[in-house]
Amino acid sequence: MNIRLSRRVLQLEESATLAVGAKAAAMKAQGVNVVSFGAGEPDFNTPENVREACKKALDAGYTKYATPSCGILAAREAICGKFRRENGLEYKPSQVLIGVGGKEALFLATMAVLDEGDEAILPAPYWVSYPEQIKLAGAVPVIVQGRESNSFKLTAAEIEAAITPRTRVLIFNSPSNPGGFTYTPEEVRAIAEVVAGRDILVFSDEMYDRLIYGNQRFMSFAAAGPRAYEQTLTFNAGSKTYSMTGWRIGYVAGPEEVIRQMAKLQSQTTSGTTTFGMHALVEALNGPQDAVETMRREFERRAEYMHRRLNAIRGVQCVPPTGAFYAFPNIAEAARNLGVSGSLAFAARVLEEAHVAVVPGSAFGCDDNVRLSFATGMDTIREGLDRLEKLLGSR
Ligand code: PMP
Repeated sequence: MNIRLSRRVLQLEESATLAVGAKAAAMKAQGVNVVSFGAGEPDFNTPENVREACKKALDAGYTKYATPSCGILAAREAICGKFRRENGLEYKPSQVLIGVGGKEALFLATMAVLDEGDEAILPAPYWVSYPEQIKLAGAVPVIVQGRESNSFKLTAAEIEAAITPRTRVLIFNSPSNPGGFTYTPEEVRAIAEVVAGRDILVFSDEMYDRLIYGNQRFMSFAAAGPRAYEQTLTFNAGSKTYSMTGWRIGYVAGPEEVIRQMAKLQSQTTSGTTTFGMHALVEALNGPQDAVETMRREFERRAEYMHRRLNAIRGVQCVPPTGAFYAFPNIAEAARNLGVSGSLAFAARVLEEAHVAVVPGSAFGCDDNVRLSFATGMDTIREGLDRLEKLLGSR
């Protein structure tokens, strides 16, 4: 038979982060000692109190459909508590939806808000799923390049210049994957000023809000003022903060009507995440937080080390990571020195010759850069950077 596939799926890009991982995995399977900087998840186990809460929930029979499917009340209340304590945001449980990871929450929002031909402003570098989700909704990602001299952050004026009558959404991700940068409260306020009073919803992806380094300050977009609060969907998850990536629990809070429509969509697609997982999320959010600080401190130490070592390599410049767990160095000159051009060719060469896996920046809209995750042990990081330095030379 002639299998016909939808235009919708054929236009989708495969996740480049997964593709590099697959090639590195194939080399490892052949016995090659590959150092991988590809990880998009913390290298720690979920804290013990959270795992215990899940086991208890399973034994107590929380193994049925969640009601409502957008999240059990106890978990949505715990999320409201998190937003109040940590972000200065007042939400009611009716303004909260729990999704199958932050990714589903973002997907539901995109589907609930964007129509054919609408525009979503997408700052680059961007997390890989954004342009694809926007295109799945039939909308247009309007990519605005952040300048490396400003740590890739967009100014309010740069965002304003991208707004058209068709703009419906501004994607705002701080701390950033892959950029490792974090907007200051002043920068957030200036951007909030620009979107205020317009029919634009801000998707504020705050997955990494607890992973902030040095003297960097963080502010939730919705905390910029009453108007920002009204036009923002705030996304977060257990994934990065509590090292729960495999649990698939994310959440979003915002205007009640948008959340209600997203819940409708969710009830007809995934029926939400696991009931026992939501019980564990309650413990994660309300229980002791010392494991979060332990992880944060370790990431901070690695961020400083990565930054120093990368900048000592010939042809490599890296802005200091102030949040998340990624370094996003510019490798344009290092690539030229190797006789290749583009981040994909650079990553392929580095994998073949130094047996180091990095993610090409082209996947994130920045072809002069590559992403190195430091969600991996210090010994691995040291070895990987030694290899890169050996291949590329030192300053
Ligand atoms: N947004 C960003 C910026 C991310 O880095 C990730 C995870 N890679 C997600 C959303 C999705 O998180 P989750 O694993 O909870 O679906």
